[in-house]
Order: sequence, then structure tokens, then C-alpha cells
Amino acid sequence: MDGHINKKHTVAVVGAGVAGLRCASLLMGKGYDVTVFEKSRGTGGRLASVRLGELSVDLGAPWIEPVSHDFRQWLMMQGPHLSLWRPNASDFSLNKVFVDRQVWVPVPRSSMITRHLLQNINFHPSVRVAVAWPDRDGVLLRDERAVALGHFDKVVIATPAPQAAPLLDAVQRYRQKAEAVVQKPCWVLLVSLDKRPEKLANIDVVEGEHKIFARIIRDSSKPQRDGEVWVLQANDAWSSDYVNLSPETVGQVLLAGFQEWLSQTLQPTAVRVHRWLYSEACVNDEHLSLWDAESGIGACGDWLVRGGLEGAWRSGSSLAEKIMDEHA
Ligand SMILES: Cc1cc2nc3c(=O)[nH]c(=O)nc-3n(C[C@H](O)[C@H](O)[C@H](O)COP(=O)(O)OP(=O)(O)OC[C@H]3O[C@@H](n4cnc5c(N)ncnc54)[C@H](O)[C@@H]3O)c2cc1C
Repeated sequence: MDGHINKKHTVAVVGAGVAGLRCASLLMGKGYDVTVFEKSRGTGGRLASVRLGELSVDLGAPWIEPVSHDFRQWLMMQGPHLSLWRPNASDFSLNKVFVDRQVWVPVPRSSMITRHLLQNINFHPSVRVAVAWPDRDGVLLRDERAVALGHFDKVVIATPAPQAAPLLDAVQRYRQKAEAVVQKPCWVLLVSLDKRPEKLANIDVVEGEHKIFARIIRDSSKPQRDGEVWVLQANDAWSSDYVNLSPETVGQVLLAGFQEWLSQTLQPTAVRVHRWLYSEACVNDEHLSLWDAESGIGACGDWLVRGGLEGAWRSGSSLAEKIMDEHA
């Protein structure tokens, strides 16, 4: 017995982040017929990378710090897609440099982890699912123009909580759980420079208390990256206060704040601003994952278990197990 199911059950996964693709890959490995729908053009979600000129830059979670044995073991199996990074770190005072930090980074860019998880799963990018509704033929999915995407035996909603809520309409108690979750915004500025700022000559990561920033990361210091690219993440409070500013204005303010803190005028060769409307989730009530066998609809994601990226992975694993248990 290889644990494969006998009948081909169809599963649709909505969201190609870590949670959705972890769930999808486990199910596919057990013989389920899995289709993934994703509103963006590629995989990764909040572990995505984007283009900045010629370069690829990590836009979301900047690294992975495994806590549990299971997650660490799984990471080690990602082989060539992962590399250890020992950044020189400091707080915003820059008084002390910490050299003992060790984190993992996907190479050559963060979306490699989800690309690897996707493998040959049937993937539909640039499709925003708007409705998941059970009827006698299964669960019917529709996109935002109400076009039918098909019937599936099971549907996994693997989006941030605010985007999951309307998709969980058929299971009201889950919709309410999703609606209760707070996911704060996070503004991010990517800056490519012609040369490294003097004050940061030997520092790759700055974290801690600052009136604007939560973290400043030299993306180019990560293994297998090029250029002189810095990622500036605004803190929760600043991002929430200015959530509705235009990207142009935010870009100018963040760059001015960076220059003021450095006491140096910079010459960016390229900039890009991104607003994560839903960044890290505040999880009060842990569930690991949600599964309603009657409707065939479930949910996974970092909003159901603490631990950010690792939480998302655990949540996707948990939901796959619940679905597989039905056919054990
Ligand atoms: C700036 C930033 C820094 C972070 N730093 C850290 C960190 O240091 N450590 C850490 O552990 N975590 C960190 N995180 C959080 C971490 O990235 C997330 O916890 C994790 O990636 C969430 O994975 P997920 O699969 O649950 O959701 P996501 O990655 O958000 O994936 C959900 C996917 O669903 C798609 N989607 C949404 N709605 C629809 C729809 N209707 N139809 C189709 N597709 C849809 C989205 O486009 C997305 O691709 C950070 C996040 C951000 C934004």
C-alpha cells in the first residue's frame, strides 16, 4: 500500500502561497487531482519576489527561521533551492553589530520555494476566485466576472483571512472566524543604489524601534543575489496610519526617511513601492486548519496558526491530512 486513494478526487486550491501549495503538493502526492487558482501572475503570495530593473528582489518574508523539527526537516529537503545566510545585523542605533544570526533564504529568489512545491500541479494564475458554493455536483467555483471555473469534490481556501471570508460564505461559522482576524498592512520600498550607503558598509539587516521602519534589509547580501538593492519595510503603525497614501508619496517619504536616518543623500537607480494590504496575521484563536466535510470546503493559512511562514506551512499540512483522513 502506498497510501494512494483509489478514486480520483478533484481538489481546487485557491491561493498559491506556502499554505495552499503545501496542501496541494501533499494531496497530489497521494493521487488527488489538484488544480490551483491564483489571482497573481506567479506563486509565492507573501513570499513572492518581484523584478526591479534586471534584478529579482524579495518583497515579502525576507527569510525563513524554522522553529519546529518537522518544518526544519522539510526545509532541508528543498536542497538546491535553499541556502543559509548569516547577515550582519544591528538595531537602528547601529551601535552594535551582531554576527551570530543564521537564517535560511530560498535561492536565487524567495519564490523558488513555492515554485518547487508547485511542480507539475495544474496551475491557473491571474484568476481571482470570487465564489465557492456547494451544489449537488460538488463545489462550484466562479471568478470575479461570475464565469464558472468548474465543479470540484473539495475546495481549499488558502488566502489571507479578509480574502477568505467571502469565499467561506457557504460555511458561515468559518466565514465569521475569518472576519474576526486582523491582518495589518505593510508598505515596502525596494531601492536599487549605485553604491552601498557608508553607514551600512558592514551591516545587512537593521531591525528594531524606528518611527517609520520595522526592518531594512540588503537583499543583495543574500546568497545568489546581485546588485545593491535594499528593502525597506515600514512598521505596523506607520503602514496603518498611511495605508491610503499613493504609492508615489509613500515611496518619497520612505526614501526621505532612509536618507535622514543615514544622514546621506542617495542616488537610486530604480525604486519600486508595494503595499501589502494584509501582511502578518494577528492570530488569537489557533485552529491549524478548518475543514467542513459536509460542504467539502476548508481553509488554511497563516491566520489559523501562529508562526508566520512556518504557521502557513503547518496549516497547509494539517488541512491536507484532514482531507486525506476522509479517504483513509
Ligand atoms: C513584508 C512581510 C514580511 C514578513 N516577514 C515575515 C518573517 O520575517 N517571518 C515569517 O515567518 N513571516 C513573515 N511574513 C509573513 C509570511 O510571509 C506569511 O505568513 C506567509 O507567507 C503566509 O502564507 P499563506 O500561504 O498563508 O498566504 P499568502 O502567502 O498570502 O498566499 C495567499 C495567496 O492567495 C492569493 N489569493 C488571495 N485571494 C485570492 C482569490 N480570491 N483568488 C485567487 N487567489 C487569491 C494571493 O494572491 C496569495 O498568493 C511577512 C509578510 C510580509 C508581507
